[in-house]
Amino acid sequence: MDRMSHYVAERWVDFVRNLLPEAERVQMQAHIDSGCERCRRELDLLRQVVNFSAVESTYRAPEELARMARAIYRPMSAPAGVLRRLMGSLIFDGFGEPAMAGVRHAVPSGQQLAFNAGDYCVDVRVQGEINSSQVAMAGQIVNRKAPEDRLAGLPVALVSGRKIIAETLSNEFGEFSLEYTAVRKLRLQIEVSNEGVRIDLPLSSLAGGTRDSEI
Ligand SMILES: [Zn+2]
Repeated sequence: MDRMSHYVAERWVDFVRNLLPEAERVQMQAHIDSGCERCRRELDLLRQVVNFSAVESTYRAPEELARMARAIYRPMSAPAGVLRRLMGSLIFDGFGEPAMAGVRHAVPSGQQLAFNAGDYCVDVRVQGEINSSQVAMAGQIVNRKAPEDRLAGLPVALVSGRKIIAETLSNEFGEFSLEYTAVRKLRLQIEVSNEGVRIDLPLSSLAGGTRDSEI
């Protein structure tokens, strides 16, 4: 089987997280069943990573419950409308590779990150310009428990310390795009105010951020 007939890692991430349309899922399962060792290894690895991150959040659950219980019994000190911080954990970090024709969402190069945060998962793809600190970011937020939910109009911000580097709103598909100049200690924050949370994702593994921090 030649190199061009494989699926990109991002597809397998979506596969593992059950985010794909049934037809595509069946095709990809057939590819595995046909005996592709390379994709099988990638799938096994991603399953381990995703399962590990699920176990991790289970371990954290009692602590989270205790914190919520304390918050309930504490006198109203925080102003109404304050959002609870929901930390995301990185479950995938990879660099794009040439993709087969017809595979959607494929990127010719650039870095991809995927995070889990509570019921949400957030995919981020970044593409830096050569000889420049300008970075283009595209991402999508999905509710894993309700993938059909449209997470539209959510405030999305890139922050460094207390400074907002770039901000936008998600579109009707929960997608967003941002352009910015690479800085250190970058975090991506997405407000889901009807759930009372602000998703907080550390972008410390971004290649551009690392390069910048060495200057
Ligand atoms: Zn393959």
